[in-house]
Amino acid sequence: SSFALKDPSLLRTQAKIGAQWIDSATRYAVINPATGIELAQVPNLDHTATEEAIHAAHTAQDAWKQRTAKERADLLKRWFALLIEHQEDLARIMTLEQGKPLKEARGEVSYAASFIEWFAEQAKRVQGEILPGPQADKRLMVLQQPVGVVAAITPWNFPAAMITRKAAPALAAGCTLVIKPAPQTPLTALALMELADRAGFPPGVLNVITADSEAAKQVGATLCASPLVRKLSFTGSTSVGIQLMEQCAPTLKKLSLELGGNAPFIVFDDADLDAAVEGALIAKYRNAGQTCVCANRFYIQSGVYEAFAKKFATAVAQLKVGDGLDPETDLGPLINQQAVDKVNDHLEDALAQGAQIYNTPASCRAPFMAPVILTEAQSTMRVAREETFGPLAPLFRFDDETEVIALANATEFGLAAYFYARDLSRVWRVAEALEYGMVGINTGLISNEIAPFGGIKSSGLGREGSTHGIDEYLEMKYLCLSI
Ligand code: ADP
Repeated sequence: SSFALKDPSLLRTQAKIGAQWIDSATRYAVINPATGIELAQVPNLDHTATEEAIHAAHTAQDAWKQRTAKERADLLKRWFALLIEHQEDLARIMTLEQGKPLKEARGEVSYAASFIEWFAEQAKRVQGEILPGPQADKRLMVLQQPVGVVAAITPWNFPAAMITRKAAPALAAGCTLVIKPAPQTPLTALALMELADRAGFPPGVLNVITADSEAAKQVGATLCASPLVRKLSFTGSTSVGIQLMEQCAPTLKKLSLELGGNAPFIVFDDADLDAAVEGALIAKYRNAGQTCVCANRFYIQSGVYEAFAKKFATAVAQLKVGDGLDPETDLGPLINQQAVDKVNDHLEDALAQGAQIYNTPASCRAPFMAPVILTEAQSTMRVAREETFGPLAPLFRFDDETEVIALANATEFGLAAYFYARDLSRVWRVAEALEYGMVGINTGLISNEIAPFGGIKSSGLGREGSTHGIDEYLEMKYLCLSI
């Protein structure tokens, strides 16, 4: 097949409920965005299958939480090892259905696996508390217990990592899951499930429901409405996150929401410009600009505005747009035509309001898109307010620190921000003043399993990764013992 996998049995085209790989009469096509060619068909599941998956997860819950933390950790370690062993095949599946360059796909598999390894280690470090009693005969204790069945709804931009970042801490904590991967990228999710089976997770602990964009709404509504599901972990757009939060209100579920961003990337006059350009390339063009932590707005101080633009354009001219399977490719296609339309809308709006195209973009056939650098961007433009999610880089000019902090914070979003500066007092002042969950200082790459990933304001609730990540899947139980 076109997949050319070393281990063809990783290509799973059925959903997973309990011990069973599930088919359905209705299926939908998974498309390679680079070629428009159908890669496979997977079940288009609905309410009934979702209820079955919830039931399977609920049935598996008791025995799973009764296992020792070490037993759960051992299974996670085996799953981790299998991801690493099959890194190349997983990367190919990912590139084919998602479009990102193979080298980035390999990187994502390592990144995805790192959460499994990390939470295998953390599983054994979930600890309660013993507190001094208010009276002599009282002994107070706090247990940490798994929240219960978890629903995970994930996006297409990181088909593996957005799943493991939720599944690994949930499994470590003793929760079972129903996962609904993005409609565009189910094959990576199902390959991860195949490896989870091989690792030896008991039936029902992990379930995957595949659905196309329409059916996904019904699947989501069923997950949110179910009283058996005690927690929803969602990564995706802010508008869908808000809808899901509303749908979870009647059953008061615990929520983790990783939503949209509008990351500022600030370069001060005292910055190391070469380092800033290098960071800008990473922060802007990873996954062709389709990540929630991608730099959306570049604020460049007047003294270095021209110099930065020039160096940045020189570096961007080296980037190669093409099929992700080509080892030379730096930017793959965007996920679909709608994504291209949105970037073009932002571009046209900016040009209509006086921005100028600074580089000479290559001509590309959609959904491929060449990087465009804009100068003289203004706050009134859509690129200032909305997440562009593509290879468009607007450069805004600013004069002083107070002004740029106000501009950077003038957004409903609060996920990632970046800045380049060398003056230590300034570094500290700006880092404190930016209203964001994560700040990259003199770096364009901030995500890893050790750090707490997450946003404030309309960028979401909760943190993933780090020693805190497992708390999202635990509930405290306070015991008051009179002796
Ligand atoms: P994107 O624009 O990145 O696709 P979305 O928020 O639309 O972001 O999608 C993220 C995930 O949410 C996907 O798995 C998608 O199928 C799912 N989704 C989208 N709309 C709904 C909905 N109304 N209910 C439940 N899940 C949804």
